[in-house]
Amino acid sequence: MSEEAKKTRDFIRTIIEDDLRTGKHERVVTRFPPEPNGYLHIGHAKSICLNFGVAREYGGVCHLRFDDTNPTKEDTEFVDSIKDDVRWLGFEWGDNEFFASDYFERLHDYAVELIKAGKAYVDSLSADEIREYRGTLTEPGRNSPYRDRSVEENLDLFARMRAGEFADGEHVLRAKIDMASGNINLRDPTLYRIRKVAHHRTGDAWCIYPMYDYTHCLSDAEEKITHSLCTLEFEDHRPLYDWVLDELETPCHPRQIEFARLNLNYTVLSKRKLLRLVEEKHVDGWNDPRMPTIAGLRRRGYPAAAIRTFCERIGLAKRDSVVDVAMLEHAVREHLNAVASRYMAVLRPLRVVIDNYPDGESEELDAVNNPEDESAGTRKVPFSRVLYIERDDFMEDAPRKFFRLAPGREVRLRYAYFITCTEVVKDDAGEIVELRCTYDPATRGGDSPDGRKVKGTLHWVSAEHAVDAEVRLYDRLFAAEDPNAGGKDADFVDTINPDSLEVVEGAKLEPALAAVGAETVQFERQGYFCTDSEDSRADRLVFNRTVALRDSWAKIKGR
Ligand code: ATP
Ligand code: MG
Repeated sequence: MSEEAKKTRDFIRTIIEDDLRTGKHERVVTRFPPEPNGYLHIGHAKSICLNFGVAREYGGVCHLRFDDTNPTKEDTEFVDSIKDDVRWLGFEWGDNEFFASDYFERLHDYAVELIKAGKAYVDSLSADEIREYRGTLTEPGRNSPYRDRSVEENLDLFARMRAGEFADGEHVLRAKIDMASGNINLRDPTLYRIRKVAHHRTGDAWCIYPMYDYTHCLSDAEEKITHSLCTLEFEDHRPLYDWVLDELETPCHPRQIEFARLNLNYTVLSKRKLLRLVEEKHVDGWNDPRMPTIAGLRRRGYPAAAIRTFCERIGLAKRDSVVDVAMLEHAVREHLNAVASRYMAVLRPLRVVIDNYPDGESEELDAVNNPEDESAGTRKVPFSRVLYIERDDFMEDAPRKFFRLAPGREVRLRYAYFITCTEVVKDDAGEIVELRCTYDPATRGGDSPDGRKVKGTLHWVSAEHAVDAEVRLYDRLFAAEDPNAGGKDADFVDTINPDSLEVVEGAKLEPALAAVGAETVQFERQGYFCTDSEDSRADRLVFNRTVALRDSWAKIKGR
């Protein structure tokens, strides 16, 4: 067992280790089974890290299987995005790429077996009637009047369903289990329904489609999955999973094990809701940087390694809970703090003229790329007579505790010089448009020769060397801690944070930032940023804020 596995031992890994030790299995085979009806989100990342992680740790394999049984909602766009996202997260499935739709013929044959064994029947009740007959949590269901059709009649009707002789909803194939079961999933669940729609992979080959519960267990068995790991809402479906596999002769009978799904505060993780955000244009597509989708987090600048660390840290439980999104942000900051290159960027520029600096001259100063990582080295930053500093870093009537620039006060420009503000220039409207300052040539590099102390250190850029950029400041998409709190009557979109995106035009960046690629970098004193993969171009830079610097999670934990 790897070190990694020992560290993160949980109830699922304990079961797997036991199964390997007792020889129940020689090799672990898991699967990640997304339905291609949307983009993957951070909740899926938990499942991906678990399934692929377990396989990797114990020398097994993890299959990527598309559970594509619902032709009306699925699309190859989603298949492609899912593959991209799993790979980007750092996992590989090799040849083990499967589609439930590849098993349609096998699944059909299994259904015929069930009919022949008297374990499935064609029901001709309407959908409403089926619901009515099903009973409730407190009342048992009733048998359908079609439940006792003969095997011959069922075989004939099922064949004609497949041949397309009936309209949608006219008949369904149901398992014959127990309409009085305390578990509603066992009250003769539907196995097949008629859907006269094309499928994104099988085209018009089929007009009957198998239901999820029936498909899933058989797909697992066909692939000889050893441990079928799924979220808690499937716990009540497990008896059906086992029933199907017990009634049929399948290559094996995988063990279903449930774990708690990931819930995050200030976030929705239901694909249905995410789809609504996209369709109603509350966000700019599935990969909007505010979306909790893998594609959104990637565009936002979250490193895959930080997402994996987060998934490891939240662990596995058998009870649902809500994880603080600050914990995810903390993992991102922690990772970026160690690896991100630092740069200077002025988001809201205020012009500063250094009166005693020679006009037309400039020089290059050494700046440290990453104080956390000496091997990252240094770079040159140009300095000249006209600079920009952050508007917020100047106050005309500054209180004593304001440690930045004010009339008559001296501050350090990072990696450059001490400067003192001598004059405030305003326009006719009284708006501050420029500061006049002097610099002390003896403080080159930002060091004081005479032990003179300054309280503040500001970032800055040289006006003539600066590159322009648009900067998008993202915040949480939802203002409510639990966007779903209102229940059915309240709409989660009403809790969208109106300030989740602030666009800052006219930011001034140090020139090296024009050349950063896809990596996420730190703008000193501001946060972590990356170029926007959709909109940023060489002649029009656009940066997204990945995350601000302040870490509320570290504060909570006292770290
Ligand atoms: P949604 O409920 O958002 O529509 P889903 O569960 O229907 O999502 P699938 O494509 O069926 O989406 O999910 C693929 C796998 O990912 C399943 O095994 C599912 O249990 C797991 N998964 C989905 N959401 C989460 C989550 N929030 N936490 C952990 N695992 C999840
Ligand atoms: Mg699902």
